[in-house]
Amino acid sequence: MSPAPVPGIGDLVSRGDHSFSFEFFPPKDEAGERVLWDSIRELEKLRPTFVSVTYGAGGSTRDRTVAITGRIARETSLLPMAHLTCVGHTCAEIGQILDDLVAAGVRNVLALRGDPPAGPGTPWVQTEGGVRYASELVSFIRSAAEVSVGVAAFPEGHRDAESLEADVRALRAKYDAGAEFAITDMVLRASDYFGLVERARAAGVDFPIIPGVMPILGIASMRRMAEMSGRAIPGETEDRLLPHQDDPAALRAEGVRIATEMCAELLAGGAPGLHFYTLNRSRATREIWAALRIPV
Ligand code: FAD
Repeated sequence: MSPAPVPGIGDLVSRGDHSFSFEFFPPKDEAGERVLWDSIRELEKLRPTFVSVTYGAGGSTRDRTVAITGRIARETSLLPMAHLTCVGHTCAEIGQILDDLVAAGVRNVLALRGDPPAGPGTPWVQTEGGVRYASELVSFIRSAAEVSVGVAAFPEGHRDAESLEADVRALRAKYDAGAEFAITDMVLRASDYFGLVERARAAGVDFPIIPGVMPILGIASMRRMAEMSGRAIPGETEDRLLPHQDDPAALRAEGVRIATEMCAELLAGGAPGLHFYTLNRSRATREIWAALRIPV
C-alpha cells in the first residue's frame, strides 16, 4: 500500500478552523539539538497543524534544515514545513534543495528572500543565476516541485519597503506567483496585524494571513529583535514590562500575559490561526496555549 499523501498547509489553513503552528531553528551544537528535540516532543502533544524550521542567514543551515524537517516527517506525527531563502543560491542549487526536501518527505515550503548576509538593513545583492525577490522564488518553486508554498508578511511593513503600499504590492506579487498563505513577522500590536490584513484584502490578496507571535521573556532581547525588523516595542507594552525589569520571573509572567491577551484579540478579530516563534523552547508556548484554553 502506498503511504498517505502529505497534506498541503495551504489547504489546511484555508479550511476555516484555527490553525496553530510552531517555529524552530536548526541548533548549532548537540546540546542545542537535545533542547530542540525535547521541545518538539513536548509540543507534539498539543497536536499543532504544522511546525516549521527556519533557514539560516546566507543559506548557512541548508543541510540541517533539510535533515530536521525530514526527521520530523519520518519520526513524529507532526507536519513539517521547511523555510527556504534565495540568499547565495543559484536556481540550480534551489532546485537541488527542493529535490532533497521532497526525497525527505517534506511537501511544504515557506519561500523567503532572506536577509542580507551582513544583517537586516544592509544592501541585498542577488546571486548570479539566482532570483531577486521572494515572488520570483515562489514562481520557481511552483515550476520545480509539487509543494505547498507560503510566504512572509509584515504587520508594520517590511523595513526596506518604501511605503505600506509598496509593501502590500510585494505581498500581492507573491500571491500572484502562487503562494497559498502568509505568516507574519512577530506582531507587536494586534491593530498592526488587522491593518495589514485590511491592506492585503484591498489589494486583492485573499489567502490566509497567519499572525506570528513571540512572547516577551526579556526586555533587552525583545528590543534587539524588534530593532532588527526596523521597529520598536510599543510604549504601552514597555509600560507594563518596565515595573518588572529587576524580577525576571515576574517579567516573564507579564510577557506571557501580554502575548496571551494579544492572541485572544487576534483570534477574536478573525485571524485564521497563530504561529508561535518558540526559539526552540516549549514552556512559554505551552503556557499561552493553556491560558487560551485551546483543546488538545
Ligand atoms: P520579498 O518579498 O522579496 O521582499 C523583500 C523586500 O523587497 C521588501 O522590502 C519588498 O517590499 C521589496 N520588494 C519585493 N518585491 C519587489 C519588487 N518587485 N520591486 C521592488 N521591491 C520589491 N529569513 C531567513 O534568512 N531565514 C528564515 O528562515 C526566515 N524565516 C522567516 C519567517 C517569517 C514568517 C518571516 C516574516 C520572515 C522570515 N525571514 C527569514 C526573514 C526574511 O527573509 C526577511 O525579512 C527578508 O528581508 C524579506 O523576505 P521576503 O521573503 O519578505 O522578501
